[in-house]
Amino acid sequence: MQTIIINKNFIKETAKKKEVENDAFRSFMKNMDGDMLDKTVQQLNETIAPQIDCTACGACCSHLMINVTVEECERLSAHLNIDAATFKQQYIEESLQGKMIINTIPCHFLEEKKCTVYAERFEECREFPHLHKSNFKGRLFGTLVHYALCPIIFNVIEELKLKIGFKDAGFANKVND
Ligand code: SF4
Ligand code: SF4
Repeated sequence: MQTIIINKNFIKETAKKKEVENDAFRSFMKNMDGDMLDKTVQQLNETIAPQIDCTACGACCSHLMINVTVEECERLSAHLNIDAATFKQQYIEESLQGKMIINTIPCHFLEEKKCTVYAERFEECREFPHLHKSNFKGRLFGTLVHYALCPIIFNVIEELKLKIGFKDAGFANKVND
């Protein structure tokens, strides 16, 4: 296992340098077995995610559009002791089709990189960066879009490159050398 990298500037700069490499990596995985990839990514995630302190990061809460449900709004409004209509007015934007998102980025509930409603946070917040789920291949594009943002994704992807032989295949730019 490589050293875990959490320095956001380093990750951002490395991501710029690795754009071509990551495109090649995506192609490299195209014909690989999805179940094998899921298992490998899930194992890496289990090892890597606990070593990264999300409460010292908060990047997803500062950059992502979070979809929410009616039930989640009701639960959080009850937790905040305000009625659901007021909650929606203050914190939610609703499309004509009834799709709801948190109406600010960064999220209202983020304070100094920490979620102030952590126990009641929305499902999408709990699920990001989705590396514990199956169908990693189906989410590959979105995962790589957030490679520069999320240290968990960055480290899992870099380790995955080694695990499945991508670096040995001679594609990689040696940006860390
Ligand atoms: S509710 Fe909490 S976890 Fe979700 S985006 Fe807002 S601050 Fe982040
Ligand atoms: S961007 Fe990734 S590492 Fe940062 S808080 Fe979100 S899930 Fe955690």
